[in-house]
Amino acid sequence: MTEYGVAYFGNRILQHVQSDLDEIVAAGFQSVLHTFSEVDERFYAEQMRAIVAASHARGLRVSAAPFAVAGIFGGEDASLFLAEHPEERQRDRTGRVRPAACLNSTMLRSLLRRWILAAATAGFDEILWDEPAWAFATDDGARCVCRYCRDLPEDLSPERNLVEFVSWLVEEARSHGMRSTVCLIPDELALTPGQPWAEMASIPGLASLSSDPYWKTAYLPAEKFVTDVTERVRTAIGALPVHCECWVQGFGLGEEDLPDLEIAFQAARNAGARRIWVWAFAAAGHMSELGTTSADTVWEAIKRQTAQNVGET
Ligand SMILES: [Zn+2]
Repeated sequence: MTEYGVAYFGNRILQHVQSDLDEIVAAGFQSVLHTFSEVDERFYAEQMRAIVAASHARGLRVSAAPFAVAGIFGGEDASLFLAEHPEERQRDRTGRVRPAACLNSTMLRSLLRRWILAAATAGFDEILWDEPAWAFATDDGARCVCRYCRDLPEDLSPERNLVEFVSWLVEEARSHGMRSTVCLIPDELALTPGQPWAEMASIPGLASLSSDPYWKTAYLPAEKFVTDVTERVRTAIGALPVHCECWVQGFGLGEEDLPDLEIAFQAARNAGARRIWVWAFAAAGHMSELGTTSADTVWEAIKRQTAQNVGET
């Protein structure tokens, strides 16, 4: 049976979260992802624990996403770290400073250790390491030239450096009892195509590998894009004990996109995704950047896709 999960964000008021979680369970989802930004970690720590507990009380598996943390993960949010530690940012070889912390920054590692501890304390089961990547294209061998990177071995490629960074994250999360999923942005949308899929899949202790083929954002045909990307994930996994997962676009859609929405779900199932995630609850209608005027209609269509699991255990 395919499992389903949904991302939830934009509300920290428990009574409203609780009624939304009831709707999520009734719709047939088994997992919920709560975004966990730097602001959440600093100002909402106890409230996040209550939100995670409310999710567990309804039988949901609960993921955290480091929402735009240090500018190196996906998310429509700002980073306190980048404002407070501008010297820790990536610098490309032209000297241009990028809005993302260097993966080799020791202060970034301290921030992420604290974030992981906060996620574990809040009770999260798993972490989605969402779209980790360098903030500039590295396919021509370009490297960060910040004070941390200047002395790195010449033969350490940016891709290998990224995989080692994510390996460190997975191990840190594991040491606090949390599973890890890595979601790589599709090569079709990545700054640096040809990402290290197989190397990511091979990270010791990784639970799942996924990608997010958002066809409308990419202006690509839903069936082919979702199929190609999910098969790329499965190929990278091969015989490894890692689950294949897929994110389906559930934001920025209108009524005219409902046929493609159904096609995308079916393509993800056919390509072997064990868990299908949707970004996001209520078709993200509450976020100006992601919503549409038809969010209610799109959300109902999403729930028709997950309804096959209603009543099953
Ligand atoms: Zn650097």
